[in-house]
Amino acid sequence: MLQGQEGQMHIGKIVEFFRSTDEEDYFRVQWFYKAEDTIMKEQAASHDTKRVFYSTVMNDNPIDCISSKVNIMKISPKIVLKRQLCQKFDFYFDMEYCVEYSTFRALTSAPSDLETTAATDGGISALPSNISGESVSKSGNCKRELVLLDLFSGCGGMSTGLCMGSKLSDVDLVMRWALDSNKYARESLKLNHPGTQVRGEPAEDFLALLKEWEKLCKKYMDTVPEKTHSRRSMASKAENWNDDRLNEADVAAGEFEVSKIVDICFGHPSSSGNHGLKLKVHWKGYSVNDDTWEPIESLSNCQDSIHDFVRNGRKSKILPLPGDVDVVCGGPPCQGISGYNRFRNFDSPLDDERNQQIGVFMDIVQFLKPNFVLMENVVDILRFDKASLARYALSRLVQMKYQARLGTVAAGCYGLPQFRLRVFLWGAHPCEKLPQFPLPTHDVVVRYWPPPAFERNTVAYDEDQPRPLEKALVLEDAISDLPAVSSNEHRDEMPYDKPPETEFQRFIRSPESEMIGHSKGGARIAKDVLYDHRPYSLSEEDYARVCQIPKKKGANFRDLPGVVVGADNVARRDQKIEQVILPSGKPLVPDFALKFSQGKSRRPYGRLWWDETVPTVVTYPDLHSQAVLHPDQDRVLTIRECARLQGFPDYYRFCGSVKARYRQIGNAVAVPVGRALGYAMGLAALGLGDDGPLMTLPKKFSHSTNLQLSEPEPEPEPELEPVEAVPIDWIS
Ligand code: SAH
Repeated sequence: MLQGQEGQMHIGKIVEFFRSTDEEDYFRVQWFYKAEDTIMKEQAASHDTKRVFYSTVMNDNPIDCISSKVNIMKISPKIVLKRQLCQKFDFYFDMEYCVEYSTFRALTSAPSDLETTAATDGGISALPSNISGESVSKSGNCKRELVLLDLFSGCGGMSTGLCMGSKLSDVDLVMRWALDSNKYARESLKLNHPGTQVRGEPAEDFLALLKEWEKLCKKYMDTVPEKTHSRRSMASKAENWNDDRLNEADVAAGEFEVSKIVDICFGHPSSSGNHGLKLKVHWKGYSVNDDTWEPIESLSNCQDSIHDFVRNGRKSKILPLPGDVDVVCGGPPCQGISGYNRFRNFDSPLDDERNQQIGVFMDIVQFLKPNFVLMENVVDILRFDKASLARYALSRLVQMKYQARLGTVAAGCYGLPQFRLRVFLWGAHPCEKLPQFPLPTHDVVVRYWPPPAFERNTVAYDEDQPRPLEKALVLEDAISDLPAVSSNEHRDEMPYDKPPETEFQRFIRSPESEMIGHSKGGARIAKDVLYDHRPYSLSEEDYARVCQIPKKKGANFRDLPGVVVGADNVARRDQKIEQVILPSGKPLVPDFALKFSQGKSRRPYGRLWWDETVPTVVTYPDLHSQAVLHPDQDRVLTIRECARLQGFPDYYRFCGSVKARYRQIGNAVAVPVGRALGYAMGLAALGLGDDGPLMTLPKKFSHSTNLQLSEPEPEPEPELEPVEAVPIDWIS
């Protein structure tokens, strides 16, 4: 134990003593981090104070700051410590902490002090794991099969990418469950992934449902239905149900015969009613339209029906139980902190109800204990309230004994003409290899200045490293083959009118069977039919304005007649000429464009150009505040064009109104990013790759449908890095 400058105690291992040239006595120390000294900071307040983190960080200190000797035990993170054992040492460590990518990694080297005694010591129990040990698939095709739960799934951008990428690394990742409270997002997901059980309750109700389902399974799976009593289940309907079709089966007035139970939920599917477990009843003699949701308490006479439902439901895995899920992924919404949201709560984002979904996400992880976790979020979580949300998410994983690693990823680096920066957090059970982050394949310069604490989290090549990168993509690469459409296009389907012109277009137009090796038979697309290639229709006035925006690079409202731009870069009305008035009576140059960003912005009515990378596809292409006009057509980008910028294959279709479709696409994780991460996860699931935070994707990974990808390029020999002294001002 060593005393720091401000009186705090720090823990380290003394490596050597030495005397300096000016005759001072020093020692070299290798530090252990206390939880609150890691990136988790005060978010680790509730952690076990005896748990410290191994590190390779060393530095030299004067001998007089040594305070006392403490006992530190290395234990296996697979072990859960019981209290009586903890009394035998002052501290223990089971993971290494590394500042790069905020990594918490299980120590893999020599067996731990406690692992060897685990079997005999009553103070230890093993952390459950779903891992079967050998990486052998049941189907025999892939080397390992994993099942996925996508929380806050949206239309499935993230999970679609993850499944594609895992397949390329020989791991069959199957999305078995998805959850999203938005109806249209669920419809899209189901259309494209017909084998997935898609649920719609709010995430907090979903967790309550999982817990209730576990209880039901425990109660009914081990019991046999009583053969003696009648299998006739009678119940009265809780819902106001006026029906005069009472028949002989209705034993008492208001009682009906239950044919079978067909669904389960927690809460209430309609807005009325109390929260609680509900079962959907199909009534004998009635059609499915007459099915009703009933609180489970009112079905106490229907034990056989419940029994049948639970047994069948468990067999077909309608809901996951702990141990059923290998991978949980998701993008819990953080509307309260997004840079686009002006009403965010700057000081304490964790109090903002809209941000609490990260907590629910982690609660679900805690309940299901998957092998791998992947959480996505906006980069603002690294900025607001001193990154408390990011620290909180890491802290939850580490407290659950998961390994963790956080990286900032730019979508354009994986072969898209869109920059789009996002944060990803890996979690891995201590028995698994912690997935790495895939290094970029395309030369997009990541111009981003992270807050100092997250300076070493950006997934990119070092400036001085050789970069084996392909040229960055531009808009033309992604959309030049799409048919011209007008601002009033109403067709949801149309034929392509050109063959693909670029590698990207050939890839994005590949059928599902080529892209993922088989077809799920979901979206059932007709060959050569293009879907969702329509924009939202501009108002009459906006259309008239857009027609006057020149078809040239950088054009925007400033190019309209009657606008002058001063030396101060502010756009103003030209007082020398008469204002042009549209037939509707509104001005050609609207006030809101001149007022936007105090007249300094070039975004209102901005045209994109063929040689550009789009900053970020957002949930609605609003031409009043963003550059979203097609380079040479008088309209905003279509749904399909936005989908292409997000890397959705052309076979992927979207449901709902035009607005709802844009929204799903703008909310999504860009598919190629998910794909690259899925590949990295697949390798980790097979125990491949080294312990470093980054890995190199195979050559031609981005636009290749070939499942027999070449082996990853061998990593360049690591240069011997000097042990870098992390700037810790602990010690004088
Ligand atoms: N990861 C997705 C996008 C997620 S966007 C993709 O890659 O496509 C966040 C989603 O969370 C939205 O679709 C929204 O409908 C959903 N959502 C928001 N609050 C929710 C809640 N409480 N429970 C379930 N879903 C929620």
